[in-house]
Amino acid sequence: MYETLTPAVLEFADDGTPWSAPFGDVYHAQAGALGQARHVFLGGNALPRRWQGRERFVIVETGFGLGLNFLATWAAWRADAQRCERLHFVSFEKHPFRAEDLRRAHAAIPELAELSTALCTRWPSLTPGLHRLWLDDDRVVLTLYFGDALDGLGRIEARADAFYLDGFSPARNPELWSERVCHQLAALAAPDATLATWSVSGQVRRHLAYARFETEKTPGYAGKREMLQGRYTGAATGATQPTDRRAIVLGAGLAGTSIANRLARLGWKIEVMDAAPGPAMGASGNLAGVLRPLPSLDDNRLARLTRAGALAGRQHLEALDGTDHPARWGATGVLHLARDPVHERRQREVVEAHRPPADFLRFVDADEAGRICGWPVALGGWWFPRGAWVNPPSLCVANLVHPAIRTRFDTAVDTLERTTDGWCLRDAGGTLVGEAPVVILANGVGIRSIAQASPLPVRSARGQVSHIPATDAAPPNTVVCRLGYVTPAIDGQRCAGATFTVDDEDTALRAADHADNLAKLDFILPGYAETVPDTHGAGRVGFRPASPDRLPMVGAIPRPGEYASDARLDAVERHPGLYAMSGFGARGLVWSSAVADQLAAELNGDPQPLERDLREAIDPARFLIRRARRSLLGKDD
Ligand code: SAM
Repeated sequence: MYETLTPAVLEFADDGTPWSAPFGDVYHAQAGALGQARHVFLGGNALPRRWQGRERFVIVETGFGLGLNFLATWAAWRADAQRCERLHFVSFEKHPFRAEDLRRAHAAIPELAELSTALCTRWPSLTPGLHRLWLDDDRVVLTLYFGDALDGLGRIEARADAFYLDGFSPARNPELWSERVCHQLAALAAPDATLATWSVSGQVRRHLAYARFETEKTPGYAGKREMLQGRYTGAATGATQPTDRRAIVLGAGLAGTSIANRLARLGWKIEVMDAAPGPAMGASGNLAGVLRPLPSLDDNRLARLTRAGALAGRQHLEALDGTDHPARWGATGVLHLARDPVHERRQREVVEAHRPPADFLRFVDADEAGRICGWPVALGGWWFPRGAWVNPPSLCVANLVHPAIRTRFDTAVDTLERTTDGWCLRDAGGTLVGEAPVVILANGVGIRSIAQASPLPVRSARGQVSHIPATDAAPPNTVVCRLGYVTPAIDGQRCAGATFTVDDEDTALRAADHADNLAKLDFILPGYAETVPDTHGAGRVGFRPASPDRLPMVGAIPRPGEYASDARLDAVERHPGLYAMSGFGARGLVWSSAVADQLAAELNGDPQPLERDLREAIDPARFLIRRARRSLLGKDD
C-alpha cells in the first residue's frame, strides 16, 4: 500500500519554539535547538571525538523534524579538522515539512544559513520511502525515510555508530520509544554503538535495557537535570569495509558509467572497458529517453522502484548541472495519457487514493492535458511535473568525468578467470586485458556471453526509435506517453517510439517498425503523424538487456545451483567480487541512478539507499529461487 504522507504544519508556541499541534509538543528545548543538539546528541555520543580519524561514521536518528540536529551535526563535522572522511546521517520522518517551512524555521538560526540552503535546495518531493541527498561534495550523505519509523527501521540496511533518539516526548509519542523500536535500533547497531537522548523516562530506559542498551543518566541541557547516554552491549556485526577498492566495469553505457561514477565518488579506482570505440555506442546511444515513474494503486515494487529511480535520476542530473560537465536534458515534465477510458479512471483513482505531492504527480483531464502538450487529446492522464527527457550519451560522458575513472575502449572481454584475490579478464585471443578484485558486468546484451553470468535470464530486446524533424516552436514541448512516447524537439528532431521485440537480432532499420512508431505517435497525438514529413524511416536500432519480470538485475552474480523453493536470497552462493548491472530493458534511464547508488553502497559497506525488499526485488539470484519454486509446481521455465 502507498503510505500517504501528511506534511507537518509549521507553528510556534508562545515563546517562539516550533510546536506540533497534533503531538502537543515542541520540536526542541526552549533554550535552543543548536545548544540541545550539541549538548545532548553530539555530546551524549562523544562526538566529534568518536568520528575522528575514521573513514565513515553512521548516525541514525528517530525523528528528522526540522533537521536541526542534522544541521548542527553537519556544522560540527565541518568545523572538525580531524573529522571522518564521510558522514552518513540516516533519519526517519512520518510528517516531513515542506522545503519552504524548513527555510522559514531555519531562518531563526543564522549560523546555519549556508547548510540550510544546501539542504533545502535538495529537499526531496514528499513521497514515501527512502531519499538520499548527497551534500558537501558527497562527504555528507543524508538518507531520509519518509513514513512511519516503525516500518522504516525494519526496512533499511545500515550499521549505526550512534543513535539520536528524538521523537516527541514518550508520553505524547509513545510508539517511537516502544520496546519494538528499541529492538529495531539494536538490530542496526554497529559494535560499540552509542545513543543519546534528552528523555530519562523509566519506561524508555527499560525498553532500551530489554534491547541490550546499557544507559546512564548524565547532566541535561539548559537547566534540565538529566539526560540519557547509552551503549549497545549485544552482539553486533560491523559494516564491511573493502580494503582494495579497485573495480573493472565492463560496458560504457548508462549502467556501466553510472556505477563507475558512484564508485569513483566513493573513493574507488575504476577502469571502464568497452568493446566499442567510445561510450554509449549500444542501447544507451539513443537521442533521448524518458525519466518518469510508473505508479500503481497498490504501490507495488515496480512502482516504488520507478519512483526511487525517477527521483534519484533527477537529483543526479541536477547535481551534474552544478559541474562543468552537465548532461543534456530537458526538465519539461512528462505527460502519461490514458490509453482508454478504463485506464483513465484507474489513473484518476491512483491519484485520489495516494494524494501525492503536486510536484510529483497530478491527474489532469483531457482539456488540461491538451493545454500542457499543445495538442488536442481525447483523454486525460498523469502529469509528472518533474519528469524529463534525457540525452543518454551525454549522461554517459558526464558520468565518466572523474579523475578516478580510466576508460579503455576497443577492448572486448571474452572470459573471466577467478584468481586467489580477484578476477583476470582475457580477450578472445587469451590475452590478459585486466585484473581487479571486483568486476561489474554492465555490458548490455554482451553479458550473455560471459560464462559466469549464465544463471541470469537476460534476453535481448530490439528497440527501434524513429527520428522526426521538428522545430522548437512546434508542439509538443513536453514528453508525451501513451503506450509509446514522443519527445520535444532536440536539435531539430523528435524521438518517437519505440518497438520492443525479444530475441530479434536484426540491426537494420525496418520500414515496418517505423510505421509502427508512427501509428503509436498517432495514438498519442491524434492526427500528428499526418503532419510529419517523409523521413524515409530515419531512426536508430538498439539491443537492450531485458529481464523476465521487468525489474533490473543488480547485485552479486549467483553460481548456478539447486535451491529449495523457500531458500533465502542470502543462502544463494555467489561468485565473490562479481556483480551485474543488467536487465534494464527499456528503462535504462529510470533504473541507472538508483541502482548504481544501491550497488555502490553495497560494495562500499555504506547504509543502503533502497529498502531491503526493493534490493531483494532486483537481486540477480531471485531467478534461481523462482526456478526452484516453479519446478516444485511442476512448471518448467
Ligand atoms: N530531530 C528533530 C530536529 O532536529 O529538528 C526534532 C524531532 S521532533 C522532537 C520529533 C519528530 O519525530 C517529529 O518531526 C515527528 O513528526 C517525528 N515522528 C513522530 N512519530 C514518528 C514515527 N512514528 N515515525 C517517524 N517520525 C515520527
